[in-house]
Amino acid sequence: MRQELKTHVEQIHSDFTIVDAHFDMLGDVLKKRRMGYTKVIERDFIPDFISGGVNIVVASLFVENQYVPEMAMRNALDQISALYEEIEESPDKIIICKTYQDILTAIKNKQLGVILSFEGAEPIGNDLKLLRIFYELGVRILGLVWSRRNYAGDGCHFQQVEEGQKGGLTDFGVKLVREAEKLGMFIDVSHLNDEGFWDVMKIAKKPVIASHSNSRSIVNHPRNLTDEQIKAVAKHGGVIGMNAYSDFVSEETLTKNAEGLVKHVLHIVDLVGIKHIGLGFDFCDLFTSSNPNFLPDKKEKKSFDVIKGHKNIKKFTERLIIHGFKDEEIKLILGGNFLEIYKQSLTKIN
Ligand SMILES: [Zn+2]
Repeated sequence: MRQELKTHVEQIHSDFTIVDAHFDMLGDVLKKRRMGYTKVIERDFIPDFISGGVNIVVASLFVENQYVPEMAMRNALDQISALYEEIEESPDKIIICKTYQDILTAIKNKQLGVILSFEGAEPIGNDLKLLRIFYELGVRILGLVWSRRNYAGDGCHFQQVEEGQKGGLTDFGVKLVREAEKLGMFIDVSHLNDEGFWDVMKIAKKPVIASHSNSRSIVNHPRNLTDEQIKAVAKHGGVIGMNAYSDFVSEETLTKNAEGLVKHVLHIVDLVGIKHIGLGFDFCDLFTSSNPNFLPDKKEKKSFDVIKGHKNIKKFTERLIIHGFKDEEIKLILGGNFLEIYKQSLTKIN
């Protein structure tokens, strides 16, 4: 039985397209390139993508607090530049996906397809015109905020903080949603506060995704979505990426694992069906050595990922099989649902 299950998992990972809708790879790539390393994605990331069967990765342009606000644009541009340099060095292994056709090409040629997204609109400050520049460079998904305030809106905090009155989207934030959709981008609500979330739902015409958020009914954390929010994302045809960050997966140490994450899948399927779940693991253990944001206690190297990187996502697939999900359903969760979003939403609208 054990061997049968293993073979089944292997077959799924070699046959199905796997999409990770949120990975902060480029900050790390940039830091290593500044140290003089080249082919960082090929050397440090692609082996794990290959062993996990990952085809498409959304590389988020996360800008650390230390660069905000003045250096945010420059840092984002440096990250994009690093990606272009990496592609030049590994042209047969990596492509940037600006269209759905590019995504299909990546899958067909067994290349790593990278889609760029904003994780917070800080790089454009309050200048709507800059959005087009980033679009031209390949950014296709707009996460309006990270867990902090910017010109577009308010992020949700990671823990309770003393704060004044909360806001939803600003005037600029509303314009940004409209302009992004018009250009051919779509909106990601992960990290947005609840007020901003409901504003986006009123304004957006395209499907809205939550690239890396779980269920708040299971873990009561502001980074997770309430049942009403999950229903709203589904109603708008969106997809929610399951996040492997331990604090969002479970409050109990024993279930900070793949099984704990599947609990969120089961809950969301119960609420809205199978078509609205994807993967947005947000793996970050890899970056703890280089990113001070991931080191609340710098003396101790803490583990945050309940699944240990892309090479281990088969453990998640195994749990899905054990819970009785059929191949066709697993195909949707691992990538099919996000592919459908890319097919529908990487288009310009009026
Ligand atoms: Zn995030």
